[in-house]
Amino acid sequence: TAAASGLHWIDGFRALGPAFFTPLQPTPLPAPYWVGRSDDVARQLGVDADWLVSDEALDVLTGNALLPGMAPLASVYSGHQFGVWAGQLGDGRAILLGETERGLEVQLKGAGRTPYSRMGDGRAVLRSSIREFLCSEAMHGLGIPTTRALAVTGSDQRVRREEIETAAVVTRVAPSFIRFGHFEHFAANDRIDELRQLADYVIDRYYPDCRATERFGGNAYAAFLEAVSERTAALLAQWQAVGFCHGVMNTDNMSILGLTIDYGPFQFLDGFDPAHICNHSDTGGRYAFNQQPNVAYWNLHCLAQALLPLIGEQDIAIAALASYKTVFPRAFDQRMARKLGLPDGESADRGLVDAVLRLLAAERTDWTIFWRRLSDAVGSGDFTPVRDLFIDPTGIDAWLPLYAAQRASTPSADAAARMRAANPKYVLRNHLGQQAIEAAQQKDFSGVATLLTLLASPSDEHAGFEAYAGFPPDWASTIEISCSS
Ligand code: AMP
Ligand code: MG
Ligand code: MG
Repeated sequence: TAAASGLHWIDGFRALGPAFFTPLQPTPLPAPYWVGRSDDVARQLGVDADWLVSDEALDVLTGNALLPGMAPLASVYSGHQFGVWAGQLGDGRAILLGETERGLEVQLKGAGRTPYSRMGDGRAVLRSSIREFLCSEAMHGLGIPTTRALAVTGSDQRVRREEIETAAVVTRVAPSFIRFGHFEHFAANDRIDELRQLADYVIDRYYPDCRATERFGGNAYAAFLEAVSERTAALLAQWQAVGFCHGVMNTDNMSILGLTIDYGPFQFLDGFDPAHICNHSDTGGRYAFNQQPNVAYWNLHCLAQALLPLIGEQDIAIAALASYKTVFPRAFDQRMARKLGLPDGESADRGLVDAVLRLLAAERTDWTIFWRRLSDAVGSGDFTPVRDLFIDPTGIDAWLPLYAAQRASTPSADAAARMRAANPKYVLRNHLGQQAIEAAQQKDFSGVATLLTLLASPSDEHAGFEAYAGFPPDWASTIEISCSS
């Protein structure tokens, strides 16, 4: 007999009512096939392992069939794109299948048109779907808050982008997919009752402490804004420390839970270029790597503006936002201290951090390899591999003794272990994703599976896979990735 999915559905977001979404059915794709699956996400969901490899699962996770209790919908939101109010957007190619009793929402991305598709086809291509699947799981492996991905399925159905590609569907999983833009939508349309209903829902479910707060005179909405600001600050500190460039930090791509969401033209830095722009269509560099912390703050101002009718007073809203300015630098300092192997609670000397960032920027030294080699060097005492990363070693030769002085009180073995945990060996570099994608386009999905395994524990050595931890090939810099593919 066929295995049951193990999923049980509850009414979560859907209970908000029809002002927040449109019920609809996914659009089937012909002859789907598996591209990748995450057993870890399956365990989180309580999905039956036998079911996950079944034909029924393949159909359900492509949008070709529904399970009993699923009630699919597309939600409405608005947002600021590239700093400009864009009006109504919404789930143009994402369909929420439902929420499980474990409090996780299951969403298909690329399962066909919705009332919010505007000019789009409601589809996602295999290339971008593999990138989203792998990066979701890579971020989780790095300990960075993110939406997850259960699976990718593909079809030979053709999809027109700059070239003809094929369609795929990613099954995304998160406690909630609500974005800043959901709040902006109801505020901009002067629908204050719905705005309040949405805020109450998110507070009650995800920020219950805000109800009991004495901060801001017991103003739960201000406490909520402050809590979102703090989670966002903590997230950005993690992005900056690992060298993650999101690429499209529009307010509709900002999770109200402080998760990394909507993987499009993202990139893990190769050489350290602080002003790196990963999104080929971001000609102005609004979302350049070193702009991300300020953009997040700007986006929080949009959220504050949207919440203002609930918060009541502008001064209170501004005070609630202010925490970003203290939490981000503190969290970033802590991340850098860990990368440097300093004991928890000990902060890195600001000058020491700034100096190494300048050295890395001067020669575009590889971000991931530098930190990993430094970790290994602290363990072995041999700093030659670190020195060898620089054409002109003068700067690093001057910096290493200052660094040694800073960690003089820490045993090297402890420091090295801490550093390896904070300085991953494996990140989803563009060229690694690209190689797995090109094989998948030829129906060889082994590269996707290999990367999934490595990226699930990116700080482990994974003997035999050193090729995945090396410098990017020259062609890596020619990969061009834009929004919404
Ligand atoms: P993104 O840039 O991916 O965050 O998408 C911005 C908006 O465009 C969202 O409302 C998406 O749902 C929508 N969108 C992106 N690609 C498509 C597509 N192929 N079909 C329909 N809507 C899309
Ligand atoms: Mg988006
Ligand atoms: Mg997108």
